[in-house]
Amino acid sequence: MQVFKFGGASVKDAEAVKNVAEILKKFVTKETIVVVSAMGKTTNGLEELVNAFYNKTGDTEAVLQKIKDYHFNILKDLFPNKEHPIYNDIENSFVEINWILEDEALPDYNQVYDQIVSMGEIISTKIIAAYLLEKGIKNKWIDVRGIIQTDNTYREGKVNYELSEELVKSQLLPASNENKIIVTQGFIGGTSENFTTTLGREGSDYTAALLAYFTGAESVTIWKDVPGVLNADPKWFRNTKKIDELTYHDAIEFTYYGATVIHPKTIKPLQNKNIPLFVKSFLKPEDAGTVIYNSDKRVPIPSYIFKINQLLISIQPKDFSFIGEENLSRIFDVFARYGSKIHLMQNSAISFSVCIDEEGTKTEQLITELQREFKVLYNAGLELLTIRNYDQPTIEKLIENKTVLMEQRSRNTVQMVLSNN
Ligand code: ASP
Ligand code: MG
Repeated sequence: MQVFKFGGASVKDAEAVKNVAEILKKFVTKETIVVVSAMGKTTNGLEELVNAFYNKTGDTEAVLQKIKDYHFNILKDLFPNKEHPIYNDIENSFVEINWILEDEALPDYNQVYDQIVSMGEIISTKIIAAYLLEKGIKNKWIDVRGIIQTDNTYREGKVNYELSEELVKSQLLPASNENKIIVTQGFIGGTSENFTTTLGREGSDYTAALLAYFTGAESVTIWKDVPGVLNADPKWFRNTKKIDELTYHDAIEFTYYGATVIHPKTIKPLQNKNIPLFVKSFLKPEDAGTVIYNSDKRVPIPSYIFKINQLLISIQPKDFSFIGEENLSRIFDVFARYGSKIHLMQNSAISFSVCIDEEGTKTEQLITELQREFKVLYNAGLELLTIRNYDQPTIEKLIENKTVLMEQRSRNTVQMVLSNN
């Protein structure tokens, strides 16, 4: 068994879908589970739809129509025969969305979000499965909501490993024996009350890892629009280099510091069963890409991870008392309650500083709450730079023309909060 994951960019238009079929023709040499994300930027579009619906801003129809047109344009190109049953099938999926929109919204925003946003993956996998059949590539479409079972933490579903594993063994494996290729959705799951959940944005990688874990697959391959894991995000840096091999440990550290190439939850299930993860280019599928596995090779070059929209908060007890365990535990409690992840922290005698993402109202409320007990100063619009395997020339090059507001170094990693002046 092998698991392939195709993200939004790899199925963003008809050409891309055709390319997926070509990849499968070449690389399906054994039973394969194909995990697919929503097409292109559909998830963002559906998020917009949820907001329009929930906040009653009234433009739901226009937003939905745009998403629908986008998918039907792709269909037109893939299925010249207008009588093909896929047209009806996809039409019905959009009717399902309409039903949700015609009802009164459920009170829980996150629950509404999951019922609507998940349709992106349902629709994309239906299209892919039908297209593959059309090209003579036998496969079976499976609704992953009947396999990956979660609790009802909407938008961040916690997976029930035992139950999901049982369902993989009783439902998925027999289907895979019979059909060789299974096409299913990433990112989504189901609850015991038959509601849909999602696993967190960009969660399809995690689904692929889970299915590999449950089936004891030989490998997972994530097909991407980059040649593999790079030492920096090409969005921010020129002259990036591909890393050929990564340890699970380094891969986890990378994603922890904010590298977006793979979802942070992906590595653990794979490491636990020693399943290698290949990151390969869907544009150059023959190229080697990156392999993440149980090796002892350390990354030989500096790698940098860059995050924008950072906020540096300095917290001081109002009564000039020391920052001690008492104060710290109260401060951490506030961050935990707001679900605000601390990227970097540092303390001195009477001040504690943290770097976090700037997240609009959530962050404003968090600061207001801290201000009840503490004096709070903050600095917005900052950048957080993390360099693994750093050396001095790399640091100097990267911080040129920037002011370092806070810095922390360990043997392997340096992190700096930077401002642009
Ligand atoms: N379609 C979802 C998202 O864009 C899941 C994924 O792509 O992994 O967040
Ligand atoms: Mg995506």
